[in-house]
Amino acid sequence: MSQPRIPILDLAPEIELLWEDLNAAFQRVLRSGQFIGGPEVDAFEQEVAAYLGTTHAVGVNSGTDALVIGLRTLSIGSGDEVITTPFSFFATAESISNVGATPVFVDIDERTFNINPALIEAAITPRTKAIMPVHLYGRPCEMDAIMGIAQRHDLKVIEDCAQSFGARFQGTHTGTIGHVGAFSFFPSKNLGGFGDGGMLVTDDADVALLARKLRAHGSSKKSENEMPGYKSRLDALQAALLRVKLPYVNEWNDARRRVALTYNAALEGVPGLETPGVVDGHVFHQYTIRHRERDVLRARMADAGIGTVTYYPLPQDQMPVLRRGSVCPASARAAGEVLSLPIGSSMDDATLAQVAREILSH
Ligand SMILES: *Cc1c(COP(=O)(O)O)cnc(C)c1O
Repeated sequence: MSQPRIPILDLAPEIELLWEDLNAAFQRVLRSGQFIGGPEVDAFEQEVAAYLGTTHAVGVNSGTDALVIGLRTLSIGSGDEVITTPFSFFATAESISNVGATPVFVDIDERTFNINPALIEAAITPRTKAIMPVHLYGRPCEMDAIMGIAQRHDLKVIEDCAQSFGARFQGTHTGTIGHVGAFSFFPSKNLGGFGDGGMLVTDDADVALLARKLRAHGSSKKSENEMPGYKSRLDALQAALLRVKLPYVNEWNDARRRVALTYNAALEGVPGLETPGVVDGHVFHQYTIRHRERDVLRARMADAGIGTVTYYPLPQDQMPVLRRGSVCPASARAAGEVLSLPIGSSMDDATLAQVAREILSH
């Protein structure tokens, strides 16, 4: 199959823009001889903590590992329940299962695609230990409501920020509102590396210390393993390359918001189509519309050489490995109608108009 003429995401322009600096960082690491952890990782952790406005940042191997290790630092395990959204990437619920706990799915609010805070309290049981909201597509969850519920019921909050680097809720960065925030540097994310990478952030010194142990086989000193942990460090090369990109992330997120506003202006009022809300602090990891004839539209877009993706065609509560009890209806409806359009920090107006024209001609 040939490449779409307008791909869903084009990483080349950002790489091209930073070509010299990325090469310099690459060579600096090659010459340093230190490839896992070390000064590049330390510096990147400090820079991310300063950027987000948090005290501790712990680099790990992936966003998935940041979630798993985050749950472990909050002492969540066998017999515990964690409330989360069904409408997310599998890693969300998978991380809960992998620490031995049970994901409990609470349906989304169809306007936001995020967990509906009004439905959370009905799902709380004596076994509930935590809430794991996901800032889907880069839109911040209603964290005031979620933190209020957590406080009233003495629950921990671990934010899945894999799609929300740089997003803010009421001015505060996602990931720094709950007890733990988990970020991914998978190449396609808003701050994307050149391989796998992730980060756990927290204001709690004990949580940070435990996360540092867990990422290194449960030890802070060689041969003194205090608990079974993981092998989940951030590579120096990823840290050095991500340090080059970090200063641009606000500019790139602003550009994504401009793309969203441009699409919205072009697509507002199209029958059968709903555009996403452009709320404060949204960083548009994805620009996602709903369409009554989604699959027909998607096929047409493919014929026209325009890449689109459905995130996510099957909600987690309907996946055979996780299915338990009833289906969340709002998530099920969304799964049948959502379509993410091409987005990136360097998309020009002509390209956006071309995508919009294709949809309008449908
Ligand atoms: C990408 C993603 C993850 C996992 O991050 P990795 O770095 O790929 O492990 C978790 N949750 C959500 C919502 C994601 O989009």
